[in-house]
Amino acid sequence: MARPSGMLAGFLTFVAGYTGKEDHFNRNFLAYVGNKSKCQPILHCSDRMPGMVQQFSRFLVHHCKLARKTWAYCVFLLLVASVSSNSLMAGQASAQPTAEPAAQTKTSHLTIAADLDAQLAKFKPVKMPYDSASMTPRERQMVAKLVEACQALESIYWRQSDPDGLKLYAELAGSAAPRDKNLRRFLRINGSRFNLINNNAPFVGTAPWPPGRALFPSDLTHEEFERYVAAHPADKAALYDPWTVVRRKGTALEAIPYHVAFREWLDPAVKALRDAAALSDDPAFANFLRLRADSLLTDNYFDSDLAWVSLENPKFDIIFAPYETYLDDFLGVKTSYGAAVLIRNEAESRKLDVFQKYVPDIQDSLPLAPEDRPSKRGHLSPMEVMDTPYRAGDLRHGYQAVADNLPNDPRIHEQKGSKKIFFKNFMDARVNYVILPVAQRLLRPDQAALASAEGYLAATMMHEISHGLGPAFARTSAGRTDVREAIGPSYAGLEEAKADIVGLYGLKWLVDRGDLPKEKLNGYYASEVGGIFRTVRFGVAEAHGRAEIMEFNFFSERGVVKRNAASGRYVIDMAGMPDAVAALAKELLEQEATGDRARVEAWFAKYGSVPTELAKALEAASDVPVDVDPISSIPEPMR
Ligand SMILES: [Zn+2]
Repeated sequence: MARPSGMLAGFLTFVAGYTGKEDHFNRNFLAYVGNKSKCQPILHCSDRMPGMVQQFSRFLVHHCKLARKTWAYCVFLLLVASVSSNSLMAGQASAQPTAEPAAQTKTSHLTIAADLDAQLAKFKPVKMPYDSASMTPRERQMVAKLVEACQALESIYWRQSDPDGLKLYAELAGSAAPRDKNLRRFLRINGSRFNLINNNAPFVGTAPWPPGRALFPSDLTHEEFERYVAAHPADKAALYDPWTVVRRKGTALEAIPYHVAFREWLDPAVKALRDAAALSDDPAFANFLRLRADSLLTDNYFDSDLAWVSLENPKFDIIFAPYETYLDDFLGVKTSYGAAVLIRNEAESRKLDVFQKYVPDIQDSLPLAPEDRPSKRGHLSPMEVMDTPYRAGDLRHGYQAVADNLPNDPRIHEQKGSKKIFFKNFMDARVNYVILPVAQRLLRPDQAALASAEGYLAATMMHEISHGLGPAFARTSAGRTDVREAIGPSYAGLEEAKADIVGLYGLKWLVDRGDLPKEKLNGYYASEVGGIFRTVRFGVAEAHGRAEIMEFNFFSERGVVKRNAASGRYVIDMAGMPDAVAALAKELLEQEATGDRARVEAWFAKYGSVPTELAKALEAASDVPVDVDPISSIPEPMR
């Protein structure tokens, strides 16, 4: 939820439409992942494959040199290599543990976290589907070029994040020892030696993570940095620039632009993007790819971002930039490269059209005074439901986003709005491997069966849309005030809760009008409650957790979510939900409209704690994975 600060920027964000950063945002709050998993090592061989093929090629080259004239021998070996690599590829989907011969570990000299297997078990390996069959040969070639470009950004990301970790990752390639394979898999999940879902705790060695990662000299202290900036005011802008790395040069601190520091990998990325542009049949997308290629070489993303948010329902799209500042805990300003190849999910995108069409009407229907719900007519911003066959950089490591809202540049928000992207295949994976298993443990079985990927997607879409609904300003005794300034630190939780509840309110409104099927409504409620159980597993310290435990406790107090003492399962009173949702929507919208900080703080204090019985129920489900580890159908070599 990287939002522009200040009143004007807040207004622009609201005008632009929607402000939620959704699950991507959660990645800044990974310290709150509290659930423990049973020790259950998961072995799979997907990323062992490239290493083994590499070793085999070296073997091949060696033997060919020895037997220069025996070409038939080489051809035979190539055939064997091809068959082996195919069977390895086929094998990677199953991710089954296999009996390993005792293998030499390469990591016996390293201190590895004792709970590595338990940490690994929190991530369910899921092979992400990639439907290339319906594409033309040209489209397949273009996607291959986009993937190639993403792989170059992956190479940069590791060098921003943890170059020593990358070295270790490369060294472990091809090792058959289970300890090495597990460590390598966890390195890939985290893009470093630091556990992204456990407060960056090191899982190799004992040295704590450098807060500036490799974006700053590892021994640089805040005190030294501030002293240096005070003594060299002319260098301040460059040192704070989101697109520079800070290095020592003698006694000086030097800011090196990303397009200089990472040129070695940016050049192939640029070439791949331009090749993809030449293969694209969509002139607007091709134009964007060329502009984005130029941006990579200047670190100026404005023109290409503008072209990106102006794409209209593209069949293919990419996220491809250093946008987020998740890696920089030193200044919180340096961006890390992230990338994803996106392919439009036609059926789901059409459903989104229904939601978007009625955004202004839903705004007008909200239980608020007319002056507190400014018209939303003419304020549509782009939304895409996409499948993602390939991710790289900060979109690949740690917590997997199911929705995103980019770019972060407020100037783009002002001119065009930001783009909301729903990652359908990632959402399905989360629902199937995390939300549904948790719901099946906690909800009455017939209601758990109502929760679904479809319901979760609908609720998530309406959540994102609802960030842009409600009042644009608070009306306080001091006059019109920015809502966030009026509310203060409780604002983030309030805003998330408003998005959830106004979203549910909007779904019911669409059902009542016949724009959504009536029989789906209970599924939306069940999916929402299932989503609450999932979020609360991460604790209630960050905004989404605070919002959702409040919603749970409010629903409990109204009696629309109840625990059956005999079965221990929660039951939703489906008939009572619409009134409870409307009442809560009214309360939250009024809190924003009045900017009444004391009212908000009292409300969240009243409904803010996790009931003991819920904590126990979640503990009993702690063996359910926390997230998925996406295994791409496309090989993931690392340079
Ligand atoms: Zn949100």
